[in-house]
Amino acid sequence: MTQFIYRLPRQHKVVISLVLAALLLLALLPSEQASASRNTTSAEALELGKRYSLKLPEVDPTAPSQPSTDAVVEQAEVAAQLQVLANESPDELQWQSYQVRSGDSMARIFSRLGLTPQQLYRVTQAEDAALLQRIHPGDRLNIGLTADGELGQLSYDLSDVETLFITADEDGRFASSRELKEVEIRYGFADATISSSFWNAGVQAGLTQSQIMNLAELFGWDVDFVMDIRPGDNFSVLFEQRFIDGEYVGSGRIVAAEFVNQGDSFKAIRHDNGNYYKPDGSNMRQAFIRAPVAFNRVSSDFNPRRVHPVTGQVRAHNGIDYAAATGTPVMAAGDGRVVQSGFSDLNGNYIFIQHGERYMTKYLHLHRRDVQRGARVRQGQRIGTVGATGRVTGPHLHYEFLVDGVHRNPRTVELPAAESLPKGEMPAFNMMVQQRLAQIQSHREQQLAMRSGD
Ligand SMILES: [Zn+2]
Repeated sequence: MTQFIYRLPRQHKVVISLVLAALLLLALLPSEQASASRNTTSAEALELGKRYSLKLPEVDPTAPSQPSTDAVVEQAEVAAQLQVLANESPDELQWQSYQVRSGDSMARIFSRLGLTPQQLYRVTQAEDAALLQRIHPGDRLNIGLTADGELGQLSYDLSDVETLFITADEDGRFASSRELKEVEIRYGFADATISSSFWNAGVQAGLTQSQIMNLAELFGWDVDFVMDIRPGDNFSVLFEQRFIDGEYVGSGRIVAAEFVNQGDSFKAIRHDNGNYYKPDGSNMRQAFIRAPVAFNRVSSDFNPRRVHPVTGQVRAHNGIDYAAATGTPVMAAGDGRVVQSGFSDLNGNYIFIQHGERYMTKYLHLHRRDVQRGARVRQGQRIGTVGATGRVTGPHLHYEFLVDGVHRNPRTVELPAAESLPKGEMPAFNMMVQQRLAQIQSHREQQLAMRSGD
């Protein structure tokens, strides 16, 4: 019977449904009303497929002869059934969740779900449907099917916060819409004192790997995280935590941090423009990063003042040696132009970079060189990899920093900073600085209270 109804054209379905509904009502209504109704329509007299002008019995809920509550509930269900059969409401879709597998395409997924290539074609006509090409294994698609197995709606999470919906209208045409979830920002806090290494302290403070790296980058213009870190150094970080519908979805940007290195305190506050500044408005970003290799790639047990293995003497050392595995990326310390890229017996593969008029950096013993003489390079750009070429016994980067042709210690030399905040922005920024530093302070006190409470 139901199978038969599904195959009928829509207007027939509606008529038949209404008739069925009327029959149900008749059967359920109290007998006096039913007998009264029999005057107009009779169950025995109905013929399938024939059209009847239908008059539903009027039920006034306030009337003294109202039907029992059960009958009212049944009526509501009948109305719901009518909606399903008439197939008008997207609320009535049957939902299923599909997890994308490796090697899946939308065509394959549609075929797995028993949907036709024609339906897929119609979906692809929707604006933004191309975003479905982003699917990769593990992603979820939510598929809503109508009672007759047609695709009614499809949704796909583009990110934690954004969902793509592709919805069929009454004519089976698809339109797309995108919905942004509201992200609530709360603040997380971590602080630690370094005893073994910066990395370990970060992990113990509960920071993620990327937060530890971000912190090192944030202070990487002031502190050489390979050479300068000492036991007793400490840091405090205030960072965003993102919540959707009260659920933690991940940590976000650092909004303020303090790093105390060998007694010197450095503070960084994030401005609305996305850059970090010191409390006085000067830019955290400087013309040079202190270390041209990532701190977590350098062996900590390296002694830069060791006896030279070939000459047997403590070498008059014009630079800093960073011991790292062959293949570890070497970064340009600042923007500039490559003035030398070559090989010699002593230096092995080497690169010299000129930065403006006064500054030059040199990188020796490279395994490979990624830039040629004359090339322009950006700060942080990979220029080659650590190696053991030239007169060395083990892989390391020998790094030199020259100001006006004179070797200087890149860890301590005063360096030009990027643009400071404009004066006009300082009053607002000062308020932000006060607020952030107060947040850090109150978190610190809480942590201290908790620790001493143990
Ligand atoms: Zn050296």
